[in-house]
Amino acid sequence: MSETMNTFEAQQQGRPTGPLVHGYEVIIGFETHAQLSTASKIFSRASTAFGAEPNTQACAVDLALPGTLPVMNKGAVERAIEFGLAVNSHIAERSIFARKNYFYPDLPKGYQISQFEIPVVQGGVVEFFLGEEKKAVRLVRAHLEEDAGKSLHEDFIGQTGIDLNRAGTPLLEIVTEPDMRSSAEAVAYAKELHKIVTWIGICDGNMQEGSFRCDANVSVRKPGAPLGTRREIKNLNSFKFMQQAIDYEVRWQIEQIEDGHAIEQATVLFNPDTGETRAMRTKEDAADYRYFPDPDLPPLCISEQWIEQVRGLMAELPRVMADRFVRDYGLPEYDATQLTQSKAIATYFEATAKACGQAKLASNWIMGELSRRLNTEDIGIEAAPVQPAQLASLIGRIVDNTISNNAARQVFDTLWSGEGSDVDAIIEVKGLKQMNDTGALEAIVDEVIAANAKNVAEFKAGNEKALNALVGQIMKGSKGKANPQQVNDLLRSKLA
Ligand code: ADP
Ligand code: MG
Repeated sequence: MSETMNTFEAQQQGRPTGPLVHGYEVIIGFETHAQLSTASKIFSRASTAFGAEPNTQACAVDLALPGTLPVMNKGAVERAIEFGLAVNSHIAERSIFARKNYFYPDLPKGYQISQFEIPVVQGGVVEFFLGEEKKAVRLVRAHLEEDAGKSLHEDFIGQTGIDLNRAGTPLLEIVTEPDMRSSAEAVAYAKELHKIVTWIGICDGNMQEGSFRCDANVSVRKPGAPLGTRREIKNLNSFKFMQQAIDYEVRWQIEQIEDGHAIEQATVLFNPDTGETRAMRTKEDAADYRYFPDPDLPPLCISEQWIEQVRGLMAELPRVMADRFVRDYGLPEYDATQLTQSKAIATYFEATAKACGQAKLASNWIMGELSRRLNTEDIGIEAAPVQPAQLASLIGRIVDNTISNNAARQVFDTLWSGEGSDVDAIIEVKGLKQMNDTGALEAIVDEVIAANAKNVAEFKAGNEKALNALVGQIMKGSKGKANPQQVNDLLRSKLA
């Protein structure tokens, strides 16, 4: 244990200090269980489908009947390889399955098959933005293992039943270095990881059903001090609870320390009803599990050839796609990252940008107006009533000065509500064409100047705000059809 701590200490050197909470730095490391999207279990042919009648999807192997033997599911290995490639890890050419021994009613074998000393995926990094700041969380490893069954507490008959349908479901456990420095960063990491596994399709990401569950290891320390003792919050299955649980845990640990108590290493559970974390058990050390190589399974051997074959079948990754957006469309890195939050958003963006040739404007509209609408109505971009071709022609009309940004928003509203579908027709019907006739505009400008002597005098005396009032009058006079920039320029030149 102390050896691990020393490595962590060394690895943490030179990393920036995070935001302080009451003078303490927060340190977080994650262990995430991603359920792999194979049709059958990791070591048997039973189905992994969710929600079946208890014990109808557990075969002799999952039930741990004597004489049965596990057989590795190739699809699970391929998904682990895909993950490793997605986060720039080393894929071990030879990894080992180990038995993790413990007793629990939902684990009839008395041990879980996992990987211990030599995991299949080693190292790697997950990069994401926290606000506008780029973060990189290093991975220690990702290993294959089987899930356990479930205890069903039937309170009304005062009995507990065991459902072994989940026993043997393939999991990839993804472990980070203690690199995160706030609950916000931890949530941003978890969202990025969720995006990666769903993007490459190795996990359905359904958090309610438990397909993606996170354990957050949390400790606090005074800046520069050695790492504090951590407590592990188990099974966080929503991003909201994740943030609440970590925030509560941080406050609790600081209070304990300030009151003169030492933090004891423990496993805790978050209760969403009370918003509190509570110790479940003191944490076992690896030694308590008596890990040893599983004699029933040969080493998992992965050839360079197999890795290349898997790589060849993988779709473009979000990180690679984001780089391409920066390179090919000249987008800022931040935009590129936002637009690669899901395949659907990326596809929408590319279609729009290609159709109008205005990548940055397309990005602004998608991240701005369109996202706002999607959020308000709580729908995904696949369900957006405005199609990329429509947004593209709208942008085209802004660029060629036919309409102002304001008018464009009205056109967008009309497209969204389905009252109109053709951008030019909407502009025509609603009379949204910008006033490009300088003569007519000048007449309005002169009128407004003549009628607002007070504002004019104030502006000439150096009050910039007085100009806005005049611009407002002119825009009103033009029924919103004047180009605000043009109005501004005209006014300034006339009042100079
Ligand atoms: P275990 O073997 O008990 O699971 P690990 O050494 O594998 O422990 O670490 C588990 C997780 O805890 C990792 O994500 C690691 O980054 C994180 N972690 C380790 N030490 C700390 C600490 N002091 N504070 C916060 N997280 C930590
Ligand atoms: Mg661990």
